Amino acid sequence: MTAVAIIQARMASTRLPGKVLADLNGMPVLGWVTRAAAAIPGIDRIVVATSVNVTDDAVARWCKDNGVRCVRGSESDVLGRYAQAARSESASVVMRLTADCPLLDPHVCGQVVSLLRRTGADFASCSDPVTWPDGLDCEVFTAAALEAAAREATRPGDREHITRFIRAHRRRFRVEALICPIPGLARERWTLDTPADLDFLRAIAARLPKDRPPSFMDVLAVLDQAPELRKINESAAYNLGALTARAIDRPITPPTFAQSNDFYRRASRVIPLGSQTFSKARMQYPQDCAPLFLTHGSGGRVWDIDGNEYVDMICGLLPVVLGYRDPDVDTAIRRQLARGISFSLATTLEAELAERLVEIVPCAEMVRFGKNGTDATSACIRLARAYTGRDRVLACGYHGWQDWYIGATTRSKGVPPAVRNLTTLVPYDDLSAVARQFEEGSGDIAAVILEPMNATTPKEGYLAGLRDLAHRHGALLVFDEVITGFRFALGGAQSLFGVTPDLAAFGKGLGNGMPISAVVGRADIMSEMEEVFFSGTFGGEALSLAAAIAVIDKMRNEPVIETLARTGETLAAGARERISRHGLDGVLSIGGHPSWMLLRFADQPTARKEAIRTLFIREMLRNGVLILGSHNICYAHGPNEVAHVLSAYDEALARVAKALGTGDLAGVLGIPPIEPIFRVR
Ligand code: PMP
Repeated sequence: MTAVAIIQARMASTRLPGKVLADLNGMPVLGWVTRAAAAIPGIDRIVVATSVNVTDDAVARWCKDNGVRCVRGSESDVLGRYAQAARSESASVVMRLTADCPLLDPHVCGQVVSLLRRTGADFASCSDPVTWPDGLDCEVFTAAALEAAAREATRPGDREHITRFIRAHRRRFRVEALICPIPGLARERWTLDTPADLDFLRAIAARLPKDRPPSFMDVLAVLDQAPELRKINESAAYNLGALTARAIDRPITPPTFAQSNDFYRRASRVIPLGSQTFSKARMQYPQDCAPLFLTHGSGGRVWDIDGNEYVDMICGLLPVVLGYRDPDVDTAIRRQLARGISFSLATTLEAELAERLVEIVPCAEMVRFGKNGTDATSACIRLARAYTGRDRVLACGYHGWQDWYIGATTRSKGVPPAVRNLTTLVPYDDLSAVARQFEEGSGDIAAVILEPMNATTPKEGYLAGLRDLAHRHGALLVFDEVITGFRFALGGAQSLFGVTPDLAAFGKGLGNGMPISAVVGRADIMSEMEEVFFSGTFGGEALSLAAAIAVIDKMRNEPVIETLARTGETLAAGARERISRHGLDGVLSIGGHPSWMLLRFADQPTARKEAIRTLFIREMLRNGVLILGSHNICYAHGPNEVAHVLSAYDEALARVAKALGTGDLAGVLGIPPIEPIFRVR
């Protein structure tokens, strides 16, 4: 087993030309990196890889003068060149380093090697997810994985970024990560990319021990002594994040879904539907030409088991409001994990989270927690029934899988008629329909529950009118804020529209993907919980509580809500412009809140809306966008993601327009249209 560290070094750099040979306290940057690399436990040899360009002669010369092996190759096809270098070194394990990380820590890199070996992984890194300071990056992989990537990768980005193919195919390659044991270090910037970075590194280098490569603890010790040094390159850190966010490559050939389709056969033998959720199941996607299983996510993107990458416009059906693997939430979860998950008594986290909800949600005087949105909506209804002594419910929108609600929809199989008859669905934005129910109801209605907004903005006076109607008839107003909460406004739609309900249910975004929901409301009603039975083993599960606290704190400290709306507006405006440009104004429209826009397809003389929607989804998937019929925006969706989705819109809408033009869209589609599970919005 030969483990070789290959250090990529080039003189060319747009922001700081010649940076790899810049002087850092008497030694060039490349000298710092090679010295550290040579000290990595478990690495047998180091090699510098540079280009054949004359500008890189200086790199080759420095290597020669300092007894460091150097290999040179053409600048195109970096992946192929890297594989060639690994082959010529007879490496069985390769470590990828870059020459712009002079503070590289040999012991951190050594742990990454050890992680790969001990777990039998194909790839290990300390850079994905980002938990270490920027500038300690190291990736280690087997030569076999590198060869496979070099043989099979076709996208330009996969040939340029050596490990991208391996990291995308996580069903095939086992990927491990070395997590930094000290939280908060991901914000440190120790890499060399700008003149300000060089000034910062010079200041640090002058304070480090001279006789050995520094460890990250040496650097932290310097920064603990002189925290003001961070100011030197602070602005670089902020700006570069956006600049270097990576664009998505378009697949050269349309993605294939062989593994998804194969695995479905396996899963469906033991799991009805092959999925836990109707909306994630196979029949909600175009037959045989859609991903069915995902392996991982990052920010606003996900990867399927075939290795295809998507901008995710579903975001887990909306809980992922900050993005996948949000560093702050993940840190909070890890810290709690080190203490325990579920306990024999309550923890202090429950009150800490409840206090935050009381502070930010207008109707919240007291709080109880559940796991799913359904827990929270169902608890609201039981409370309303207990408080009013009445049984009937008026409902509008979607409220979950429990009998009291689902029994009133077309998916009522298994719900006894006696229960079904207690809930009546009412249309949105129609006060007179609710008034009629109250007049006919002869005082037996306990509550009106609704999503304060979904596809359309409520008419002026509608929500306040509902509250007045309900109260006049002795009923409660319940807002289902499972989607709108932690998305439309920090205090939910109730704070956005200025109408305070008696009770409200929150879920989804509250935990950024962790299973947690909340029932909040007036203290006199919530106090019924002392007798009303709302009690489960996992109500106080601590990882979710810790995550939710981190979500709220982040939303208070950063412009999350504003950013969601702004991103959503840009996307919706771009989509609308494209819909018009492709002559599809009467076919597809977009409405709702910018952070959660719903797509509406309309029947055409020659095509059913279900068929048009299916074709649209298939083409969006082909172009690397996972979408079901809404724009579910998360904080991690940036300009690159928006641009990618809009270019996919262009392709998909062109296909739809062309198919409609043939007069036989169903024929062009060639697969059965996706039929809705049921219609509630
Ligand atoms: N209410 C609304 C408005 C929802 O969108 C959902 C879930 N889609 C629920 C309640 C039920 O939440 P859960 O699926 O977490 O039980």
